[in-house]
Amino acid sequence: MPRIAYVNGSYVAHRDAAVHIEDRGYQFADGVYEVCEVARGFIVDMGRHLDRLNRSLTELSIDWPVHRRVLQIIIREVVQRNGVHDGLVYVQVTRGVASRDFLFPEDVASSLVVTARKGNPALADKRAATGIKVITVPETRWDRVDIKSVGLLPNVLAKQKAKDAGAQEAWFVDAEGMVKEGGSSNAWIITRDNVLVTRPAVHGILRGITRTTLFEVAEKLGLKVEERGFSVKEAKAAREAFISSATTISLSVVEIDGQPVADGKPGSIALSLRKALFDVAEKTPA
Ligand code: PMP
Repeated sequence: MPRIAYVNGSYVAHRDAAVHIEDRGYQFADGVYEVCEVARGFIVDMGRHLDRLNRSLTELSIDWPVHRRVLQIIIREVVQRNGVHDGLVYVQVTRGVASRDFLFPEDVASSLVVTARKGNPALADKRAATGIKVITVPETRWDRVDIKSVGLLPNVLAKQKAKDAGAQEAWFVDAEGMVKEGGSSNAWIITRDNVLVTRPAVHGILRGITRTTLFEVAEKLGLKVEERGFSVKEAKAAREAFISSATTISLSVVEIDGQPVADGKPGSIALSLRKALFDVAEKTPA
């Protein structure tokens, strides 16, 4: 089945899909995006992702490219046309195409691209059973990381640094030694008393959709959640540590900067959160 992308009103062959060289996403990273998980033929938490897309667009004064209900139809169509049963769907909106100038262009329609990609659930489960290693890096990003902007160069550099160090994620750490979030995920620990701890999403991190849904999962499992900062030192001494994102769900962190977390194996709580999320999440048939 050939891959199909949606680009500004047309469904086109993925390999031929293109945007204009003066798209502001390309020239200024003047755009935002969302990634939704597709699992067992359902789009997971699409409502929450579109709410966050709306917030990102509003914060940057970018117009919706199409009505929200139309975008829902396009997302489902792209997932269907690509035969994605398990995988992800990517949505990107930029301020549009205009002659290069820093100021917002007038009367320019925003650009919309939607793509979908198959995943490998068996491989993802295997990864969850092994856990991942993280490194810590100083925060180098701008102040508005609560907006899901396509300007991700610090994240690219941090995640490449992690890879070069034999790890799979990088945790940004603030000037006080407190963990902020990963290059593409939120960061959590579980204390010796089985309390889930994650940094408040008021400022300085992205309010992850998976993070929000995991609060509900935790409640269902009778687990307490505390929204507070935690240090790298506390994370290394925690019972468990894990990351969350739409594509990883909850994924155990077994090593931080070369030091094992607990016994260096994935913890049972992160694994049970991962198992329970699909039931709790909103599911839209693709
Ligand atoms: N923080 C950052 C920087 C991210 O890129 C992501 C992934 N989109 C997340 C957190 C997790 O967000 P979500 O659970 O909505 O995927």
